Amino acid sequence: MFGGIEAGGTKFVCGVGSGPQDLVTARFPTISPAETVSTAVAWLREVSAGQLSAVGIGSFGPVDLKTGFITSTPKAAWRDFDLAGNVRRALGVPVVFDTDVNAAVIGEARWGAARGVLDCLYLTVGTGIGGGAIVGGRVVHGLTHPEMGHVHIPHNRVEDPFAGNCSFHGDCLEGLASGPAMLKRWGLRGEDLPNDHPAWALEAKYLALGVANFICTLSPKLVVIGGGVMRQGRLYDMVRDEVQRLLASYVERLPEIVPPGLGELSGVLGAIALAGESNSNG
Ligand code: ZN
Repeated sequence: MFGGIEAGGTKFVCGVGSGPQDLVTARFPTISPAETVSTAVAWLREVSAGQLSAVGIGSFGPVDLKTGFITSTPKAAWRDFDLAGNVRRALGVPVVFDTDVNAAVIGEARWGAARGVLDCLYLTVGTGIGGGAIVGGRVVHGLTHPEMGHVHIPHNRVEDPFAGNCSFHGDCLEGLASGPAMLKRWGLRGEDLPNDHPAWALEAKYLALGVANFICTLSPKLVVIGGGVMRQGRLYDMVRDEVQRLLASYVERLPEIVPPGLGELSGVLGAIALAGESNSNG
């Protein structure tokens, strides 16, 4: 039996089980590091009756994958917090640590929309924007980990004078197209914006610019897009059309662009899959 934690900036999704068939989950708000971790750990311990063999964590970032620390997050209380170490010491089991989006792409590749696809990409569009990629069957880590939400895309300031709200870069992809960016630009949350609001065409354009760049660099066979903003389901068709238009038949075979097969559980199930890797590696 494994534990999984999808550590998000607004909530922690915790799970116990071995896969989708026996997964039990709970959600806790992200408050101070000490309180949030002790709540999550207590829940994992109780639901598993102390029988966990390992815990996987997919964390919001940026993170240091070698040490298991959250690093330069704008959330001051979480900066330089030893998330993996605190969970490991509290539960006394091995902890496997990765980014939230890497966990999500692992979950989707193991049990979801990308099952068996050795080259795939998972993007989340919500409070932030991030991406995890599997290339040739391996999760891309590199020097630290990809930061696909922070790529710069063309920004026409006549069409869209909004300066962007990324605290590091202003108008990077996340700064222009995350949920909070939509709220700040239009004064309305995504779920309150009418279907025919120009916000959606602009959102689709920005997301497609990001996706087109990732298609050109990673050549994924499948692109899974999740996150709160994508609950506006029309975005999938709009993004597909816009990606096609942007790539202008130069890339002859475009990957499918689909919602997550695991719904909102990609991250926590990916964390369970990560925990399983610890077990198989001894
Ligand atoms: Zn940024």
